[in-house]
Amino acid sequence: MTDPRGTHPRRSAPLGVVLFTWAPPVLAWATGVAAVVARETTVAALALVAAIASSVYAPWARRRYEQRRDALLERTQIDALTGLPNRILLLHRIEQLLRGSWSRDEHPSLLFVDLDRFKNINDSFGHEAGDEVLAIVGRRLRDAVPSDATVARLSGDEFAVLLPAAASEASAAELAEALLIDIREPLALRRGDLFITASIGVATLSATKNSSALDLLRNADNAMYRAKDAGRDCVGHYDASMQERIAHRLALETALRRAIERDELQLYHQPILDITRGEVVGFEALMRWQRGEGDLVSPAEFIPIAEDNGTIVEIGAWALREALGQLRDWITHGVCAADATMSVNVSPRQLSDPAFPDVVMGALAGASLDPSALWLEVTESLMIGEPELALDSLRSLGERGVRIAMDDFGTGYSSLSLLQKFPLHRVKIDRAFVQGVATDGADRSLVRTIIAMASALDLDLVAEGVETMPQLETLGQLGCHKAQGYLISRPVPADAMRTTVSGLGRLGHLPGIGPD
Ligand code: C2E
Ligand code: MG
Ligand code: MG
Repeated sequence: MTDPRGTHPRRSAPLGVVLFTWAPPVLAWATGVAAVVARETTVAALALVAAIASSVYAPWARRRYEQRRDALLERTQIDALTGLPNRILLLHRIEQLLRGSWSRDEHPSLLFVDLDRFKNINDSFGHEAGDEVLAIVGRRLRDAVPSDATVARLSGDEFAVLLPAAASEASAAELAEALLIDIREPLALRRGDLFITASIGVATLSATKNSSALDLLRNADNAMYRAKDAGRDCVGHYDASMQERIAHRLALETALRRAIERDELQLYHQPILDITRGEVVGFEALMRWQRGEGDLVSPAEFIPIAEDNGTIVEIGAWALREALGQLRDWITHGVCAADATMSVNVSPRQLSDPAFPDVVMGALAGASLDPSALWLEVTESLMIGEPELALDSLRSLGERGVRIAMDDFGTGYSSLSLLQKFPLHRVKIDRAFVQGVATDGADRSLVRTIIAMASALDLDLVAEGVETMPQLETLGQLGCHKAQGYLISRPVPADAMRTTVSGLGRLGHLPGIGPD
């Protein structure tokens, strides 16, 4: 029997079986291959598209990234108000200069420019006017310097001019003088003309010394402070001796911060004598600093530092507590009369601390003393700057019975009208006028005027720094009946006060002292 399709039946059966068993996997495989091929084709196509796209996109993205980075750098290195390089960029330029080399004829220099009393402009005319001033000054500086110079705004009212190739230190200083003249020109602000001056410090890079950009900036900054100290509106020069003084001051400052916790501060006291009664009526507390094993440091040296770095607030509070505690002790132990007073010197910085009245009242309460036992000694320097907060503190303390003395009277700036603003109860005639009161006609008339003014304003009077009997007698004749000074007693440690006071009892027998 022949198969109609010519296939041997015995062989067709196995083929059927083969087809039957293999067709599905083969088909599946074929479909899979097709799918894989299709997938890979898609991937390849996509890759091709991506490659084409990225060849177009990548440079665009890079450009955009660079633009953004530059804008960011610009923002971080250019001062937005003046359009000038800022501190970071200036330091970068100085570093570049330091890495390079310069010839013998070049003296790279930095001018540090600080506007004088700029804060007054902001305070009086507002920040907008302040910004206008800064923008104009920035332009003036840029217009006045050589083209290779960098003018930068460092911060606030501070600018700097980097002269990479100044011919000499003197020529850098000459340029600084010329800049001062430019800055002095009236500034045409929207609100009208305004005048301003600046102080400029000049420092030159040393080719021999290893210095950094920050060193140069610091030297120029220090030189600028010299100009400020010399009265502003002038040029200050850096010299190496400044560095030593600065290092000394820095060491003092660091040590001072630890002085309280190390128990290194103490108070000496100087008695105040009522000449007519021949009695000690009070004491002035004067701070001393026993620095480590070393000598006593004078308050004239460390008080200004404490004022600058703010430690005076803590030190001053300590002095108030200590002095009043001491007075309480003397009264209790009969060293002085029950109505004797304690005078404590206070700095403007303490007075502008809103907590000051509470500190004072707390110290009085701690010593169980009436507010009338305390005299706060302030100086005329309080009038400079913004005395409002200080005046508020003094008024509030005055209302509670604490009395205020104007110390070193006659050496400061106070005018009668300013004096009237103060809740004052006493003036202390400065030693400078007391010194010549018995011998110098001009000093005597000045003291006479001060005494007349005090009596017109109904103020108590104390003469400071009395060293001789003729001084004491003359003061008495002129109408000043209270005095302190080396003639009566030097400032002494607390434990020496009993002997000092009893020794002073004997002074009552001297002519001019004690009841007639
Ligand atoms: P001051 O308050 O005017 O104190 C008077 C200064 O004159 C004291 O100097 C005193 O020792 C000195 N003195 C007193 N009698 C005579 C005299 O007959 N002849 C001479 N040549 N000098 C005399 P000291 O103790 O060196 O204090 C200097 C200044 O330091 C004080 O001047 C005061 O302004 C400040 N000071 C002292 N202690 C403190 C304090 O606790 N707080 C604050 N804020 N300042 C203080
Ligand atoms: Mg004083
Ligand atoms: Mg004084």
